[in-house]
Amino acid sequence: MIQLQKPDWVYFEGRIRKWDEARLHISTEAVTRGLNVYEGLKGYWNENGTEFGIVAMPRHFARLQRSASLLHIPCPVEYGQFEQACHELVRLLYKPESDMWMRAALYVVEGHWGEGTVADLVLTAYHQPKEPPRPIDIGVSTWRRASDAALPPRIKTSTNYQVARLARIEGRGRGYSEMVLLNQYDRVAEATGACVLMVRDGLVVTPPASEGRLESITVEIVRDICASIGIGFLERPIDRTELYVADELSLAGTLAELTPIHRIDEYLLPENTPVMNRIRDRFWRAARAIDCHSAVDLSIVSKK
Ligand code: PMP
Repeated sequence: MIQLQKPDWVYFEGRIRKWDEARLHISTEAVTRGLNVYEGLKGYWNENGTEFGIVAMPRHFARLQRSASLLHIPCPVEYGQFEQACHELVRLLYKPESDMWMRAALYVVEGHWGEGTVADLVLTAYHQPKEPPRPIDIGVSTWRRASDAALPPRIKTSTNYQVARLARIEGRGRGYSEMVLLNQYDRVAEATGACVLMVRDGLVVTPPASEGRLESITVEIVRDICASIGIGFLERPIDRTELYVADELSLAGTLAELTPIHRIDEYLLPENTPVMNRIRDRFWRAARAIDCHSAVDLSIVSKK
């Protein structure tokens, strides 16, 4: 489970400000309708702690723009300003012993019902342990992912996470820290904060975005890593029962990284995870800049 601190600084209204100064008015659509779009980005120290790199920043910005455009929210910054703002905040907050997870949000601070919409870029960054995630137990939720015609899952907006919150509360009661959400066809969509990767007969399988998952950057990274190390990768619909008989299961997400799944509902999965181990190892070496990979592009934060 993510541990979020209360850092000293945030980026708000165009510059770095103290945490307590970052306040939204109760009348804004950001508050009344939960109207925002956001991204979660991860930054890693290289192996010897000399350089800090944020993964796939251009792709995160592009997805932020896509989410914003789908909700008719004008994006108030260009890529260069976005990158500079992220670097500025990280540089203020980073410390050698921790990696960081950053939330980059556009909150709607003016306008109503799509008229006169103005958004503000808000950045917060949190320290994260450097260790890779340990295996977890998960369940399949009774809650459903909304369909594209109801609340499009490809829009990364807070309102899309209300059902995820319900699923996590449900899961906690059953002893699970993550939950799989099925789609309107009773097939696998994704987990509440990550995508699902399944290995069967040596092949990595994940549902396509049209099954109701976010257009995940980590899934793209896994696809490209698989291509480079000779592992088959396929996007196709997945039935719930396939998860129970999988050779390996893993979460895939910026924050979840490639969390191994040890058990799903009442089904224990095999302890050996040779396919995902190879992918994890390759991802890890790229994120730590030990062995760079074109799929794991790093935006390097210059020194203080
Ligand atoms: N699905 C959901 C619902 C998520 O919140 C996330 C995390 N952003 C993902 C999938 C994985 O996306 P990404 O790999 O781009 O972080």
